[in-house]
Amino acid sequence: SVEIRGVHKSFGALHVLKGIDLTIDAGEVVCVIGPSGSGKSTLLRCVNLLEEPEQGNIFVNGVEITDPDVDIDAQRRKIGMVFQQFNLFPHLTVTENLTLPQRRVLGRAPEEAARVAEENLKRVGLAQKASAYPAQLSGGQQQRVAIARALAMHPELMLFDEPTSALDPELVGDVLAVMRMLAREGMTMMVVTHEMSFAREVADRVVFMDGGVIVEQGPGAQVIGNPSHERTRTFLSRVL
Ligand code: ATP
Ligand code: MG
Repeated sequence: SVEIRGVHKSFGALHVLKGIDLTIDAGEVVCVIGPSGSGKSTLLRCVNLLEEPEQGNIFVNGVEITDPDVDIDAQRRKIGMVFQQFNLFPHLTVTENLTLPQRRVLGRAPEEAARVAEENLKRVGLAQKASAYPAQLSGGQQQRVAIARALAMHPELMLFDEPTSALDPELVGDVLAVMRMLAREGMTMMVVTHEMSFAREVADRVVFMDGGVIVEQGPGAQVIGNPSHERTRTFLSRVL
């Protein structure tokens, strides 16, 4: 679970997050939507401590990660993150991309890391690409490798920041299918996305952010299908 309480974040004079309260229960999928610059990525990055909120508290599975005394590396290990850009190591094969972090960060033995890598490549449908280099894969395949790499760390929570935004339209479906599978399996997920149909169908809850605040949240059928706020309607009329 994730509990975000009263989080504020500024960059210099720019007040980006203006008091965010959000709870994500274990096994819940929450999609965050909203206009460019509304603070979606900043919020996600606060949950992974890539940004430090100047006010408020964030708890992941009951542990306060914003506690100054917490072991940040230990907390980050529990959280998988997938970005718009896949950030694979170009000089390593697909398998090596999955085994390296397991060995470096978790200290897993090479055989165990290889076994976990194979298992997770199968889950994303890419076992046959184990020996390929990232440049030999399509964007959608690279993103599925990035997801497998995160899963191989056995995260308690997965964060996605527009994982399909850099993909050609015909490659988006395969990545969303992997994310649907994770959702079905009960992974706790926070997903920033512009894929309204995915948010509507897969999310347990959709959160609409604008100007650094949560304007409304609820089931997708409500927030996307029948929004109660004018700002949400305006946003949806531009993206749908
Ligand atoms: P998009 O849909 O375009 O990805 P977003 O909702 O993810 O937008 P953020 O990336 O969270 O928005 O950015 C919110 C605001 O904070 C923007 O005005 C952005 O320029 C600013 N911002 C983000 N990161 C930094 C930073 N490291 N330094 C200064 N300003 C930043
Ligand atoms: Mg963003």
